[in-house]
Amino acid sequence: MLAGCLEAEYLRVFRQEPLEKLGGALDSMGVRYSLYPTLTGLHQYLSPCSVRVPIAITVEPDQSSPSLWEFICETSAKTHLPIKIVGGGTNLYVPDSIGELNSIFIRFSGKTPPEEHLIGAGLLRFSAGTRTACAVRRAMDLGYDMSTLAGIPGTMGGAVCNNAGISDKGVNTADLVERIETFNFLTGKKTAFIPKEIPGFFGQRTSLFRRIPDKYAITEVVVGLDHVGFNEARERVLRRLEKRKAKDMEARHTAGSFYSNRIPDEIAQAIEPQLKYILRDEDFERVGSRVLARHVILAAARDLSVKGAYWTPNFAFLKVGQETTTYDVFQLIDETEERIRQIFKLEHLDSWLHQEVEFLKQQECYTD
Ligand SMILES: Cc1cc2nc3c(=O)[nH]c(=O)nc-3n(C[C@H](O)[C@H](O)[C@H](O)COP(=O)(O)OP(=O)(O)OC[C@H]3O[C@@H](n4cnc5c(N)ncnc54)[C@H](O)[C@@H]3O)c2cc1C
Repeated sequence: MLAGCLEAEYLRVFRQEPLEKLGGALDSMGVRYSLYPTLTGLHQYLSPCSVRVPIAITVEPDQSSPSLWEFICETSAKTHLPIKIVGGGTNLYVPDSIGELNSIFIRFSGKTPPEEHLIGAGLLRFSAGTRTACAVRRAMDLGYDMSTLAGIPGTMGGAVCNNAGISDKGVNTADLVERIETFNFLTGKKTAFIPKEIPGFFGQRTSLFRRIPDKYAITEVVVGLDHVGFNEARERVLRRLEKRKAKDMEARHTAGSFYSNRIPDEIAQAIEPQLKYILRDEDFERVGSRVLARHVILAAARDLSVKGAYWTPNFAFLKVGQETTTYDVFQLIDETEERIRQIFKLEHLDSWLHQEVEFLKQQECYTD
């Protein structure tokens, strides 16, 4: 087994050739890519941290042909580089110390020709890379209500994968989605899903795609929306954006919610007396019978801060300062969990406090 720098160099050389061949194939298909690029802004809501990856590929909607995916799968097998699909990167944290991630990175561009969005009464199609903000806007222009996703950053692919939505209202991407087109890395074929016909396809901030990560590339999403007319659709979007602003949920300098799940009933009952004691009356009123992870954070760790990172008072969003790094966020999380353990006298937080964000870590090195 080689060690340290020598091992890293060996791996780089070992992987170079298949990656260059993939590059050649991508060139001939007109697909955009870069070899060994440094990606910045992967988690643009934290301090600017960059990460090196072996190859980053940007796929246009009309390029996702089986032969493209075949080349990518083959190269992944030859180089032992796993495939990582990235949407807007708004729910991915890259630990700052890593510097390099050994994955083939794939991003989807969002350029669906405007005339191809409306594919039937109430049915709108978006390529997976379409920013949610653009999709909401496009739907609104056509008189359709897609306000559920207004203000939630990221792409349509990410929204589907994470079942993005509004926790308080219980309205989620799952309620909108009619059909999902994917490429299946396991079979090497295109696969379409009709989630409403598959029990358990979506869960709270999760989906089949999150449970079996990076096995499917979502290429296209078809949503079913109510036609309410432009003025009403615009009104609903503005109302939603206003509410998010009032709750300090707007995107600037926040890394979003970290834990978003509903607390299991037995835990909620056990902690209710302390929650009632610690939370402000109006907050407790809002909790009602639905105790969410964020209520627990607000009760236990409202006043905690680490290098400019803290929980917003209304929604327990992670607010970060200009200098905050992922490492500082980890520290805030650790201190928060310690507080929760102490105050509520609860152990095994992992079993009922589910992290919504995903951490990208360096994969194990190839050591044959
Ligand atoms: C300020 C802020 C506010 C937020 N507010 C909310 C909110 O109100 N409600 C909410 O639910 N979330 C919220 N989030 C979280 C986040 O924006 C959502 O989860 C969003 O839907 C993620 O989309 P993305 O494109 O950035 O996905 P990414 O973060 O890039 O990826 C998330 C996951 O989806 C996978 N993925 C992405 N695209 C594809 C694809 N095409 N095919 C297969 N897999 C794919 C990735 O591999 C990853 O596992 C917020 C985040 C921030 C920073």
